[in-house]
Amino acid sequence: MMDPCAHCEEMMQPYLDHVLTDEEMVEAEAHLAECEKCRRRYRFEESLRVYVRKAADEQMSDELRVKLASLRIPLE
Ligand SMILES: [Zn+2]
Repeated sequence: MMDPCAHCEEMMQPYLDHVLTDEEMVEAEAHLAECEKCRRRYRFEESLRVYVRKAADEQMSDELRVKLASLRIPLE
C-alpha cells in the first residue's frame, strides 16, 4: 500500500495546475481534508505560486531570486 501522504504530494503540483482527473481531484481533496500535514504543504505551495506569479509580473530583483533559490522548491 502506498503512503497516502507521498501519493498526495505527487498529486500536489498537477492539482495546483488543475490537470488532475475528477477522480484524482476527489482523492486529493479527501486526503487534504483529513491530513493536517498535507493541508499545510498545500497552502504553502499555493501561496508560493501566487508569490511567484506576482514576482514574475514585476521585475524580479536579485534579492528575490536568491530568496526563491534558497527555498529549493522545484518550480515549473
Ligand atoms: Zn497527508
